[in-house]
Amino acid sequence: MKVCIIQRKGIEESPVICDLSSVLIQEGCETFLLIQAYEKDLFQTIKKMGVDVLAVQSEIGDEQWVRDMTSEIKYNFPRTPVVSFGSIPTFMQKKSNLGADFLVVGEPEIPFVSIVNYLKGTNNELINVIDMNNGEHANIQPLEFDLNSLPMPDRDIYYRRYKFLRDFPVKRFLMSRGCVLSCSFCYISALRNLLGKVKVRFKAPERVIQEVLDVKNKYRLDFVHFSDDLFPVWNKSWLEKFSSLWSKEVRLPFSIVTLSNFINDRVAELLKEAGCKFVIVGVETYDEKRRIVDLEKTSVTNSVLIGAVDSLRKKGIRTLSINIIGLPGEDLSDYFKTAEFNRTIGVDFALGSPFVPIPGTILGDKLAGHQYDSEKKKILYYVMDVFPLASKNKTFQVLSMRAHKNPILSFLFSKIGQVYSLLKLKTLYNVSFLEGFKYFMKVGTFKDRRTNLHQVA
Ligand code: SF4
Repeated sequence: MKVCIIQRKGIEESPVICDLSSVLIQEGCETFLLIQAYEKDLFQTIKKMGVDVLAVQSEIGDEQWVRDMTSEIKYNFPRTPVVSFGSIPTFMQKKSNLGADFLVVGEPEIPFVSIVNYLKGTNNELINVIDMNNGEHANIQPLEFDLNSLPMPDRDIYYRRYKFLRDFPVKRFLMSRGCVLSCSFCYISALRNLLGKVKVRFKAPERVIQEVLDVKNKYRLDFVHFSDDLFPVWNKSWLEKFSSLWSKEVRLPFSIVTLSNFINDRVAELLKEAGCKFVIVGVETYDEKRRIVDLEKTSVTNSVLIGAVDSLRKKGIRTLSINIIGLPGEDLSDYFKTAEFNRTIGVDFALGSPFVPIPGTILGDKLAGHQYDSEKKKILYYVMDVFPLASKNKTFQVLSMRAHKNPILSFLFSKIGQVYSLLKLKTLYNVSFLEGFKYFMKVGTFKDRRTNLHQVA
């Protein structure tokens, strides 16, 4: 069976899609991936491939694109089943009104295999799939298979067609799924509400090394970014083993995302020994009470953040932070207070991303159907642009805060902020100016990413 996955943009390159593809190949399928942004004639290409199933990556924020894509597929290929997977079918399910035949809920590997077998007629049982044609209610359950049992990810699904992705020296890897916290704005809490539980699972250090070496031996790889929600630094024996294997066998610089609570001097030392260059932690807001009580980022106090940044700095590891712009109850002055807080605690690079209400989370449900008006959107995007530099430089913070109402000045400050961010990212990931420029011109920047919903796409 030939399965073709359609994605909107290159910035959404997803390690989970590589896992999904390898599982489908193991089941005897042929897999393809087309990124709409780079295809001159998407439907002609699909026609030439002669595919049996079309799957659309469907992320919150892209609802209209997914509906349009599904309806065009249905028009061009009325007999081909369309599968939707990602955060929209997971959290909005039937209400999403996507026009697909099958909605995959949660992690895609097992549900997708059940769809393939269902279509082949070898099995009638759909697992975590809503069949939109017979209206049956899906039996949604946690699917907590061992991540070590996955075949090696199929990176070729991206790289045989898109050389600019293959040749970019930085590549993302995913070693774990799940998180110990359940923040009130995060997809993890929505998954817990949906499935009853979400266990934290991670691959063995040996498997991590094998995966990275597999890519290093086949493609260009100069810098590894582990984009897990929670890189397992909290498990000391895991980290010790990882650190020792990495420094012997891989010896590449890398970065991780983790919780500040788990960073201390010993963890920073092990990360340093392995070659970690920077660690990404969630700060979200300057307001400790809001972070802990409203956002339920329990235990991430200001002093925990200060301690984590300090431990990393002592070992020469940089800290990058993620902050939410547009939280309910916050306004422009709060966003800039968050920028100032990052500066005060010594974060090296602070990113701001707009608040996206996810259905099934406490905050998402409170704000169901909420849309920013165009004025508010303009402010959020402006703050996203200036936030990183405002977090480093007080004068820029004060001036950019004043400039937001003036169209010429705000345009100028936005551009300065964007250039600063790109140069900073170029330095953090150690890519050349030309490579960084070419890549971001082609795929877009972090601002274009719709989601961090790793487990569902
Ligand atoms: S925001 Fe981060 S820490 Fe909180 S639940 Fe999500 S992944 Fe975990």
